[in-house]
Amino acid sequence: MTDPLFGKLALVGIGHIGASIALAARRGGVVGEIAISTRSPATLARAEELGLGDVYFADAADAVRGADLVIVCVPVGASGDVAKAIGPHLKAGAIVSDVGSVKVSVVKAMAPHLPSAVHFIPGHPLAGTEHSGPDAGLVDLFQNRWCVLTPAETADPAAVEKLMAFWRALGANVEAMSAEHHDLVLAITSHLPHLIAYNIVGTASDLESGIRSEVLKFSASGFRDFTRIAASDPTMWRDVFLNNKEAVLEMLGRFNEDLATLTRAIRNGDGDTLFDLFTRTRAIRRSIVAIGQDTSAPDFGRRDHTKPDQAKT
Ligand code: NAP
Repeated sequence: MTDPLFGKLALVGIGHIGASIALAARRGGVVGEIAISTRSPATLARAEELGLGDVYFADAADAVRGADLVIVCVPVGASGDVAKAIGPHLKAGAIVSDVGSVKVSVVKAMAPHLPSAVHFIPGHPLAGTEHSGPDAGLVDLFQNRWCVLTPAETADPAAVEKLMAFWRALGANVEAMSAEHHDLVLAITSHLPHLIAYNIVGTASDLESGIRSEVLKFSASGFRDFTRIAASDPTMWRDVFLNNKEAVLEMLGRFNEDLATLTRAIRNGDGDTLFDLFTRTRAIRRSIVAIGQDTSAPDFGRRDHTKPDQAKT
């Protein structure tokens, strides 16, 4: 067995993403020791019951002491306060990262509280489900998924390479880009789809009750997949929209213009416009499957969690 990449990993926040990191890092022998901290005693106790780490602390400052890699796994709106709490207790030379779905605002919130002796390299694994909490940890969550790192131009290349090696060891493909570019790309690939899902499910639930029961009954015809996305964690997604405001508004503007074009096409009976768009979008779906980012299995590639090889670990 090869030596672990990091002697001690500290995870601050142990929900869906933190727990998945713990499981994958443990399985791969990627770190020597895992220290876990989270704000609520109930979540900390559950993480311990699940055996996600080696040592458990109510205070994040205690968890990060002596850690070689610290990953902050809390909602983006809380990342500044966490950085403030751990800043004075970080080991010189440690790598500090996060998993937040927005990067520019997280950098602004965390960087001022981190000592210059640590390497701050923000990150975002593009993997997740609608589930939350330590029980939602999945050992294979990052397998063949992308993890984006957004190091500052002044970041130490050796530290960036080491963090990339960590994510690769967890099964991810890694790419570096600027925080600004990340936020723009994610606004269209992740944030806007979630907003649309929240909106369509909200509209359906506002319909008077007779229609609503039909909506639920016949939900397999497309609506159901929106409900899965719209079941995502409310705190996390509130923070995403509050913290990626400019990029989301930019993409929403474009989306509304395109929706107006489709509205006009339907009103005018312009089948060519509809057909051309639907042909282009079908090709996009096929290319996503072709590059291995989803399966072409029926039922929208949903995993069957009743099968042991795919069940949660
Ligand atoms: P989660 O399952 O809800 O877990 C959240 C963790 O953060 C818990 O340990 C929770 O502590 C802690 N926390 C919540 N609010 C806090 C606060 N105000 N101050 C300090 N700690 C707080 O969330 P998650 O899905 O793992 O998401 C964590 C981060 O990963 C978010 O920044 C999110 O943007 C990012 N992310 C999520 C996904 C996804 O699909 N879920 C994918 C990629 C990245 P307690 O339980 O002890 O209260």
